[in-house]
Amino acid sequence: MNTDLYFDSNATTPVLPAAADALMDALNTNFGNPSSSHSVGLRARAVLDDVRSRASRLLGVGDGKLMFNSGATEGIQTAVLSALCSIREKREHGLPAESLLLYGATEHKAVPESLAHWNRVLGLDLELRSIPVDQHGRHDLAALARMAPDAALVCTMAANNETGVISDIKGIGAVLEHSPALWLVDCVQALGKLPVDLARTRIDYAPFSGHKLYAPKGTGMLYVRAGAPYTPLMMGGGQEDGLRSGTENLPGIAALGAVLAELENGTAFRTRAELTEMRNMVVAALSYSLPGIAFNTPFDKSLSTTVNFSVPGLASGQVLDVFDAAGIHVSAGSACSAAKGLGSYVLQSMGLPEWQCENAVRLSLGPATEFDTINAVCKRIIHAGAALRECGLVAGTSSERLDGIKLVSAGDTHCWLLLDSDTGAAVVIDPRAESHAQVEAILKRHQHTLVAELSTTDADSWPFDGDTVVLGQWQVKRLLVGIAAICYLVEGRDKQTTLAFTGSLRVPDLKGILPDHVVVCGQDGEIEAMSIAAPVPVSHGATEMHLDARGLRQLMREYPGTMLVDVRESCEHRASDREGLMGQAINLPLSQLVNALPSWLTQEDPPPIVFVCRSGRRSDRAARCLRRLGYGEAYHVAGGLAMEGQDLHSRT
Ligand code: PLP
Repeated sequence: MNTDLYFDSNATTPVLPAAADALMDALNTNFGNPSSSHSVGLRARAVLDDVRSRASRLLGVGDGKLMFNSGATEGIQTAVLSALCSIREKREHGLPAESLLLYGATEHKAVPESLAHWNRVLGLDLELRSIPVDQHGRHDLAALARMAPDAALVCTMAANNETGVISDIKGIGAVLEHSPALWLVDCVQALGKLPVDLARTRIDYAPFSGHKLYAPKGTGMLYVRAGAPYTPLMMGGGQEDGLRSGTENLPGIAALGAVLAELENGTAFRTRAELTEMRNMVVAALSYSLPGIAFNTPFDKSLSTTVNFSVPGLASGQVLDVFDAAGIHVSAGSACSAAKGLGSYVLQSMGLPEWQCENAVRLSLGPATEFDTINAVCKRIIHAGAALRECGLVAGTSSERLDGIKLVSAGDTHCWLLLDSDTGAAVVIDPRAESHAQVEAILKRHQHTLVAELSTTDADSWPFDGDTVVLGQWQVKRLLVGIAAICYLVEGRDKQTTLAFTGSLRVPDLKGILPDHVVVCGQDGEIEAMSIAAPVPVSHGATEMHLDARGLRQLMREYPGTMLVDVRESCEHRASDREGLMGQAINLPLSQLVNALPSWLTQEDPPPIVFVCRSGRRSDRAARCLRRLGYGEAYHVAGGLAMEGQDLHSRT
């Protein structure tokens, strides 16, 4: 099976083998508390001191301070708290204190959220203002210069996590030269990718995060310039010279030390020139595979480890799904905003067109990436691009016509499409404004022509003569149930498929009105069955609907006729590796599941059906739908291919 090709290093990285060894050594052997005065403690202290002096050398800490902590979010809190406490002190002593808290418009959310939080907690009532960026994501230095005289704290980042844009730190430093403001520079994405020489700059605070550079999660560092105001975030046993109390995370620090040792004189990391060559290879593969692709930042102003792009007509979720199926793991912007499903505020701040902000995909590699991995990802990008083209999903391509019913969902609203592959005719039932663009895209992609938009509440939406129309292989019949209640019966030429579209009416309202043996499709996207005696459960396997890979294998062994159904979209199915059990799967996207129901529900000897998808969400819905209709032998692979992929693809 395809091994995972992980290209989301700006979110987090794997742990470098040398770092894992150092961590295990600290767990197993060097487990002492660095504050203990016996030999075991002293050995732990030696590790701590050694990592600190290496880090100080690498970052050019000079006579500043460098403390270990849990990561950049903590470092940002500490820096913001320190700066705001010093402003409060100034005020308390009746000294003039500046009133603005400035932060770059594309800053990681940890920065503005911390500013707002501590401003509120300390009751300072300072004004938060964002520093605009230009179309390349660089800070507007003229705007900064205008605000700088009133700024108490200025927060900028060294390089952006979504776009890789490198800030003009020298330029910002020059603007701030005569400003009284304290200056925080978020160096998370710079570590290991850009030269850092802190004491030579005017920077007051610089947070770092270990897990963005092959150290474990929960490790980080904060630099504080000599003489910069400082207030500890955590008090207690006085560790870290009293700057950050709490027993040090020695295993994590030892692992971070191993990463820094590689950075200083190891071979694990590629040079900047090599990383640029790798980026160029990836960009070439993407450009070849995705016609119309827009790269969202200029390459000469960005880290070569980050490629941010958008494809016209292709939502970021679609790219992610197809890439994921091909074994390439990328993200839509930052991990935090990806989880919330929002458009990129970083790209919006740069003034990029809405489609570029909404469709943005971030591919980020770590500086320890090997050329073999880049060659492999380029091949898979081309493979994923071919799947997208075959499905008509990229600009200028079209795919074969569809046949049957397709559910089109936009959030909580749904509509149904009837598509005839012979004539290209298409009918939409209960169209919704929210899904208009999706419907249009499907029609265009598969070369269908819309011949009617039928409403289950408006009999006049029927544009045909009489109450029956034949569209290629499909017959559609209008059934007037009440004044504003219309059902549409759709029957295939083979007479095997009868589906009723009933709007808000449910099966109990329709008894005696609809013919027997129909599958009923509601405007809420739900499916019911009318007078269909669902197959009696024969209990071949487990009764539990959720299977793991072992359960699936057992079921397939006991009942070789088990049907395995991949309910992902067809481009995901095409892009994926179909070895092992997955080679036996048929593809029926969840949105087209209804087409199979009439025949599945009337089988003489119903086999177990197991649904599978990427995360287990779509397969769960499919299995639930069948079970609700009385099909007792419906299962799904819980957690989907993400959890069970290796097992499902392996041959043994
Ligand atoms: N700043 C930037 C630029 C980041 O990319 C991140 C992580 O996504 C953070 C801060 C927060 O870092 P941590 O996960 O170590 O708290």
